[in-house]
Amino acid sequence: MGNNLDRRSFLKTSLMGTVAAAVATATVAKETFNPLVAQAADIVAPIKETSEFPYTVDEKYQRLPGDKIYYQKVFDTEENKTPIKFVNDDVSKITGKKDTGKDLPRINAEKLGIKGRNSTVSETGVSLFSQHDGTVLPLRDGEEGWRQIDAALALAAWAVELSFGGFTAIGSGPSGVIYQYPINPETNEVAKEPVAVQGLYNWDNSLAEARRNQGRQWKFNSAEEATKYIKRAAIHLGADLVGIAPYDDRWTYANWCRPKHKPFKLPNGSTAYVPYNLDKLLKNEGVEVFGLNRFDADWEKYAGFKPKYVITVAFEMSYEAFRTAPAILQSAGPGMAYSKMAEMTNKLATFLRYLGHNAIPSGNDTGMSVPIAVQAGLGEAGRNGLLITQKFGPRARIAKVYTDLELIPDKPKSFGVREFCRLCLKCADGCPAQAISHEKEARVLQPEDCGTSENPYTEKWQVDAHRCNSFWAYNGNDCGVCIAVCSWNKIGQWNHDIARIATQVPLVQDAARKFDEWFGYNGPVDPEERIESGYVKNKVNDFWNNLEPVK
Ligand code: SF4
Ligand code: SF4
Repeated sequence: MGNNLDRRSFLKTSLMGTVAAAVATATVAKETFNPLVAQAADIVAPIKETSEFPYTVDEKYQRLPGDKIYYQKVFDTEENKTPIKFVNDDVSKITGKKDTGKDLPRINAEKLGIKGRNSTVSETGVSLFSQHDGTVLPLRDGEEGWRQIDAALALAAWAVELSFGGFTAIGSGPSGVIYQYPINPETNEVAKEPVAVQGLYNWDNSLAEARRNQGRQWKFNSAEEATKYIKRAAIHLGADLVGIAPYDDRWTYANWCRPKHKPFKLPNGSTAYVPYNLDKLLKNEGVEVFGLNRFDADWEKYAGFKPKYVITVAFEMSYEAFRTAPAILQSAGPGMAYSKMAEMTNKLATFLRYLGHNAIPSGNDTGMSVPIAVQAGLGEAGRNGLLITQKFGPRARIAKVYTDLELIPDKPKSFGVREFCRLCLKCADGCPAQAISHEKEARVLQPEDCGTSENPYTEKWQVDAHRCNSFWAYNGNDCGVCIAVCSWNKIGQWNHDIARIATQVPLVQDAARKFDEWFGYNGPVDPEERIESGYVKNKVNDFWNNLEPVK
């Protein structure tokens, strides 16, 4: 409870919180109670700011090498030799429940069609990506939510990221590379072979240099003024949230890398560049990946400058799409956000470059987005390992633009998420792969808690990336249940203000998680029940049948 809260205010705010929750479904009442609840939340659970990064980082902490990111390991030739080792193979370690096998719907070799052993990281990843990009049919093809029409919408949403972003969503190296068939402007002939070009996340600062050489670098009167203009531009260009983080080397990957690609002739005569042996895969002759091109994380060499600040932006993802999680249709939500990330950060970098300032747009590549976003004051890190924003909960994607322009950084903010996560556990219970820790407290993870894709020595709840992604491979795409069921994933500030109150008021605290379930938010938590109860099917039908956004 807030220190300056007297008994009368406490009762008033408790009452308001409880009453407001009780009328959660009535729009008129919501409009009436909205300001009251916000006021109550500000009294009971004021937003706190800290000067430093708010979670413990042990002195043994070392930067995570980019080639250890799960999605990069998929294309590392060494990784194809060793079957996936789940960090907590005994699921009871993270669930606190006895491992009956039934509690462990992990995707084993047989579900992926590899008899007698677990699949390797490469087999799992290639299975996922080839379903994700439509090269092969999803394993669950035909189930409502996994039909061709559902998958087609997901792919359409991802189209800008896949065709112009260079798929840095998978943690690909800086300035994700794409392959295009250019038309020769002199002859109007279409090139027979594709050329590799840099995508929307390109690192080309020549425009900024040209402006400087022309003596036309735009000088802001102060860092405050620059910050105001940059934030205004970011919102205009499509960001839903924007904050400034000081550049912090700890969050930059210790090395950068990209998968090697090779050409394959497609039946229509065109050539596809793919980081795995497409012929073998399509003939069911196994998985062969081509390895990684690694390079030093050297800002001066590749960007021409060392960043001072990271303009950090976040994008809301569709509530309607996430309600269908884990259906493949859910992926239409993140797909839209990833496409926006590539487009918007390219525009923001272009804005800066036209002003003669260096800028590097970045999706998931280059550095870890969650701690950067925490530092930029966009939200807290939740149990599910994701950024939880005040406005959209975890239903937001993060991108960033690194720059050396002088700006005023924001401060990390907390509004009760970590306290709430201690009690809630919905994401951990709902995870079909049982990949999320059930431990009450976040703690400084040790190497033995972490797989080789996770970084130890920072304070968080453990999320087993291998376990998560093995479910994705079975699911045919990403999953999103840990976002969909989250207590902060609702429409409107009003509900989140209730959550803020619930973190602080003893009477309501016990019922924190129950609010969601009582009022039917976010559907069944149990993963099997979620699908088998018909909830997912209903939400898929709602999605296709309603043009109006859910309010
Ligand atoms: S996306 Fe979330 S809920 Fe789904 S498997 Fe991964 S951690 Fe679990
Ligand atoms: S579902 Fe609950 S425990 Fe998980 S991140 Fe959201 S609030 Fe935290």
